[in-house]
Amino acid sequence: AKAHVIVIGGGTGGATCARYLKHFSPAMQVTLVEPSTDYATCYGSNWVLGGIAEMSDIIQTYDGLRAAGVRVVHDRATTIDPERRTVRLGGGNTLNYDRLVVSPGIDFRWENAAEGMTAAHSQDIPHAWKAGHQTRLLRAQLEAMPDGGVFVMVAPGNPFRCPPGPYERASMVAHYFKTHKPKSKIIILDNKENFSKQGLFLSGWKELYGDMIEWVPSTKGGQVERIDTATLTALSDGGLNEFKATVLNYIPPQRAGDIAVNAGLTNETGWCPVNQLTFESSIHDNIHVIGDASIAGAMPKSGHSANSQGKVTAVAVIRAFLGQDMVAPSTANTCYSLVAPDYGISVANVYSFKEGSIQAEQGGGVSPADAARGVRQQEAIFTRGWYASITRDTWG
Ligand code: FAD
Repeated sequence: AKAHVIVIGGGTGGATCARYLKHFSPAMQVTLVEPSTDYATCYGSNWVLGGIAEMSDIIQTYDGLRAAGVRVVHDRATTIDPERRTVRLGGGNTLNYDRLVVSPGIDFRWENAAEGMTAAHSQDIPHAWKAGHQTRLLRAQLEAMPDGGVFVMVAPGNPFRCPPGPYERASMVAHYFKTHKPKSKIIILDNKENFSKQGLFLSGWKELYGDMIEWVPSTKGGQVERIDTATLTALSDGGLNEFKATVLNYIPPQRAGDIAVNAGLTNETGWCPVNQLTFESSIHDNIHVIGDASIAGAMPKSGHSANSQGKVTAVAVIRAFLGQDMVAPSTANTCYSLVAPDYGISVANVYSFKEGSIQAEQGGGVSPADAARGVRQQEAIFTRGWYASITRDTWG
């Protein structure tokens, strides 16, 4: 019989892996299990919040994967049995695999969230940290907000999905306010002391938005302890500081997606330890975990990382079937952020596997400080080009 690989999760990591498995090994039987019939990318979702893109611009479908020969099953994986090598689906079927790839993204640690916040509250206080319905909710609230309102974002501590994401979001909301509601304010309450591309964001904000955005680090009142959900107020330092929001965006602490936890693929950190050469789980044989859910050394939890890991894992799976040792791969990540529609910044790194873990190589870095405006304009073009190429590479 043909080798059968099941991929759980049709997001960035899973879709890339499924597509590249068929690409490298057309005879292989590849089944992708994903409950949703389309996928809204988190990348670009901040542009929707800023009013410079539509939801339809960030929705991907599974037609390209089907055309590539991947069997796409729209159902949810509910149980993994690593001994019998089976995956049970919500619809009742059970599938057998030779190897399994798990890329479920994140779920939230509501038990560690600020007091007062629960999963149910995210209908009124959206996180928008999974794109789709949540993005629409937050955009609708920003549109309904009167001029002079205060947008308060609570940003999570490390590690979390997309390190520059909260700051790109603040930038895009600032662009929207500047053009539609110029008397409004933005406060970022941060559960950490510094953040990705900090210098570039801070100088871009000053140049473009004056003092519209206030960033409050954890030691200066940003460590939010409690949310009064009735009044949309965030409290820190034992209630000494109160921040009342007109629109509140609480981004909860995160861990690997539920199925990874339920299958016993996570450790005490809430994320999945893997052999960082092959992404095979350190806990269960024949199961690979990629994307945000995995512990991938120096690689950040990003779409670009998940895409790179999907390809590496496709190679690792095929070589394992052939009885060949894995070759040490070189991978890359770039995170672009729009500070304004025509103002882009980026951070890039190349990674290699050395002494048991994925490490950053020399040569990465961020956009230059004090660059001419033309450089920022050029990077804004690259940002959109990156979106077009990564989605094409992932979903076909
Ligand atoms: P996901 O893409 O989340 O995919 C997980 C999939 O698994 C989902 O489709 C889900 O439905 C499915 N699933 C979950 N459980 C099950 C189950 N039990 N059975 C079947 N299917 C299941 N990254 C960048 O590189 N660049 C950016 O500019 C960028 N911007 C971002 C902005 C924001 C606001 C956010 C929140 C994130 C951003 N990211 C960006 C990060 C990027 O979106 C994630 O890192 C990436 O999507 C991770 O891919 P993944 O495959 O791990 O998870």
